[in-house]
Amino acid sequence: MSGNEGAFGSVIFQGNDESVRCLIFSVIDGVTDLRLTVLGTRGSVPVDGKEYETYGGGTSCYLVEAGKVNLLLDAGTGIYKCPADLEGEVHLLLTHPHLDHLLGLTFCPLIVQMHRPLHIYGRTRDGMTVKDQIDRLFSVPLWPALVENYPADITFHDLPEDFCIGDVKVEMMEAVHPGGSTVFRISHGGRSVVYATDFEDVRDKGAELAAFSKDTDLLIYDGQYTESEYKTWEGYGHSTMQIGLSIMRESGAKRLLITHHDPRHKDAFLAEQDRLLQEACPDACFARPMQVFDLQE
Ligand SMILES: [Zn+2]
Ligand SMILES: [Zn+2]
Repeated sequence: MSGNEGAFGSVIFQGNDESVRCLIFSVIDGVTDLRLTVLGTRGSVPVDGKEYETYGGGTSCYLVEAGKVNLLLDAGTGIYKCPADLEGEVHLLLTHPHLDHLLGLTFCPLIVQMHRPLHIYGRTRDGMTVKDQIDRLFSVPLWPALVENYPADITFHDLPEDFCIGDVKVEMMEAVHPGGSTVFRISHGGRSVVYATDFEDVRDKGAELAAFSKDTDLLIYDGQYTESEYKTWEGYGHSTMQIGLSIMRESGAKRLLITHHDPRHKDAFLAEQDRLLQEACPDACFARPMQVFDLQE
């Protein structure tokens, strides 16, 4: 899916934990492309129908093409839109194992391909490794097939610290969210994207995120609630577009993309919220399926 070829220098292995094998390539010249495609925008539960066609019904999933490395952010039902012809290895980063971020893995177009190399990363949660978390879902009677029964060649990685995949750097911070959630910053060729879904701005987390997102090209932020809804749903681990905008401004992020749309918010409502957001800042908008952000431009 990505075109540019790059020349690489020395390869250094870092870290002593096999599960976080870190490869650092020193870039001599060239690869600067970083492209994000929106696959799934909805939070909490998938929705369907004419009222959801514009802003999408599939749950959290984004595709990041960083030079030769393909990354998927979360495996909500939006993952079903993932192109099946992605070249090479695919690296799936899970923020956390809530069902709206994991359910699509059962029918992901990549996992059903024979010998497709698929790496799945996530933090240990409640004493369960990322493999344990996925096994919980892929188990009878919840689902008829174990994850080992799928044709893809799957490798699991637990994530205690920042790491690299080829020349792509992945940094992490922990969000305030029931059960925890990871915020990822993905950097490649001088460009970066921050994925901060399932994020509540309490206990100074907004200031921490602004520092973590410093000068990023694109901040994807959880704007599930309006300000008045947030008063009702405080403590549920989500946020508002107004807080996203303030974190964007504090961080110097170039663009803001609001995600994790509430399932009760239909297209007409979201279009009005989107209009208000863009009026406040032309570089901010609500995520829609199949939007593409080419961060090279
Ligand atoms: Zn969620
Ligand atoms: Zn969640």
